[in-house]
Amino acid sequence: MRSIVRILGTARELWHLYLGIIVGAVAIAATALLMPFVIARATDVVVSMVGGKGGTVTTLLWLAGGLLVLSLANSVLTNLTGYWGDLMATRLRAILSRRYFRKLLKLPQRYYDNELTGTIISRLNRSITSITDFLQMFSNNFFPMLITVFAVLVISLVYSPWLALLLIIIYPTFVWLTALTSKRWQVWEHQKNEHYDIAGGRFAEVIGQMRVVKSFVTERDELKKFGDHYNDAVGLTGEQSAYWHKMDTLRRAVLDVVFFVIFAIIFVQTAQGAFSIGVMVMLIQLVNMAKQPVTGMSYLVDTTQRAIAGSHEYFKVMGEIDEPNNPLELDESGAAQPTVEWREDDPVVAFDDVSFGYGDTTELVLNDINLAIDRGERVAFVGESGGGKTTLVNLLMKLYPATSGTVEVHGQSVRDVPSELLRREIGVVFQDASLFSGTIRENIAYGIDDVTDEQLETAARRANAMSFISRLKDGFDTEIGERGIKLSGGQKQRLSVARALLKDAPILILDEATSSLDTKSERAVQAGLDELMEGRTTVIIAHRLSTISTVDRIVTLREGRIDEIGTPAELATTDGIYAELLALQGSTSRADKAKL
Ligand code: ADP
Ligand code: MG
Repeated sequence: MRSIVRILGTARELWHLYLGIIVGAVAIAATALLMPFVIARATDVVVSMVGGKGGTVTTLLWLAGGLLVLSLANSVLTNLTGYWGDLMATRLRAILSRRYFRKLLKLPQRYYDNELTGTIISRLNRSITSITDFLQMFSNNFFPMLITVFAVLVISLVYSPWLALLLIIIYPTFVWLTALTSKRWQVWEHQKNEHYDIAGGRFAEVIGQMRVVKSFVTERDELKKFGDHYNDAVGLTGEQSAYWHKMDTLRRAVLDVVFFVIFAIIFVQTAQGAFSIGVMVMLIQLVNMAKQPVTGMSYLVDTTQRAIAGSHEYFKVMGEIDEPNNPLELDESGAAQPTVEWREDDPVVAFDDVSFGYGDTTELVLNDINLAIDRGERVAFVGESGGGKTTLVNLLMKLYPATSGTVEVHGQSVRDVPSELLRREIGVVFQDASLFSGTIRENIAYGIDDVTDEQLETAARRANAMSFISRLKDGFDTEIGERGIKLSGGQKQRLSVARALLKDAPILILDEATSSLDTKSERAVQAGLDELMEGRTTVIIAHRLSTISTVDRIVTLREGRIDEIGTPAELATTDGIYAELLALQGSTSRADKAKL
């Protein structure tokens, strides 16, 4: 419950809605509570008229008119407060969703190694929906009732202390009885959500990789796995619900007994002359009003527990540790825009005794890496797949922190440089082209405002992408589908290269940027890149050695360690990995040449 209050507290900008809902609820309760008084008065007048002891029809009509006014006021207030409740819920949903997304944007890359996209989405929807559902119900139904109950207690205290005492006992008893069942309920809820999360995670992956599903004919398997998780959830819900309703029946039985005693007291005391018939009618109505929330509580308890579970999930994500100095955090703190003094005389990139493992307990992927790359130098990383080449890039971009040792850019440890400034220095082409849905233009200009058509075309031309873009009917405005699914691998890579080129950063990283291209296209991209690499510090990771024959230095990696460093000519004469690969690829490159 505290976590829900905490959520309201974090959305203080909605205070006028909270206030409106509270005032509205008080007014709703007031109008509802006045009605039994009017009815009591009318009953007494009727009794008196029947007994020939005076009273007029006019009085009765006035009282009935009063009931009408109260009833009208009550429904207007109920709807107005309901409207505010809806407004609060939707605005809270917007606030929480944005905050959640913001949080996700702030989390380190490592977080995403262990979470499925679909699971994140399923959890986001569930936790926020459960919270807003609860608040909507609370403000629209439960809060007015709560106030009514409180008022009934006060009023009954005036007429009969016994009655008040019993009413006072009921509610804590009910809450206590509910709390008894809550733990077990939450366990079921948690188990159910795990199934939903797994199913949701798989769902998103399957949709995203439908081609693979189709080619491996796994539709049946995927459907079955998905259905099984839902079936398990249904089973758990069945148990949960059966348990809950059993307990609810018990709870209500206890309450019914208490209410039986309350009504008995009212009847007997009236018969003994303690109250008039009118007051008796009023008390019966008031007690019924107090009973209402209890009977409605089954639904409320369900919603409340779900909201508590949801807000725990929400705060769990919110409590994850952010990537240090991330751009959004800097914006929030209102601190001056970060600055850094690059040391121009130091190597552009330096690895000092760097070791790294992806997990805290897993094996090291990189060991004792020492390497300095000078301004304008072109360096190639070569080595077996899984050797740690991409990992080196990840460390350079501070996507992961080094386990030990320091990575420096322009003489500054990347640990101390705000990621925004660091990453602005680096243009990168990832191994998997990593595009977004949207147009070619949007993809090439990703992250850059105010791009002219000329700049766009230059970047595309240098990446040898112009040839295929100009053949498309919509040219730069062609939609490329999710992750660029409508493009060929080589086309995606060329867009990815163009995107990195347009960023025009001092350091350029090409992680197997042209691996999907045929030799001819690769040569064309290479020519564009050569022009661009002039004066730029470049790190190239490539399997095809022909693409790195012109670099200044080659670094070979073997099992996470640097094996050898030297110019292509130097390494060709040793018996290291490079020479080995060169010998292996000699035959292929001759075949390539024959094709040209
Ligand atoms: P390369 O680029 O040289 O082919 P990588 O740097 O991608 O190799 O991978 C090096 C090693 O790190 C591999 O053994 C791989 O399994 C592991 N690895 C890569 N990325 C992750 C990750 N996000 N979490 C855990 N292990 C990873
Ligand atoms: Mg790699």
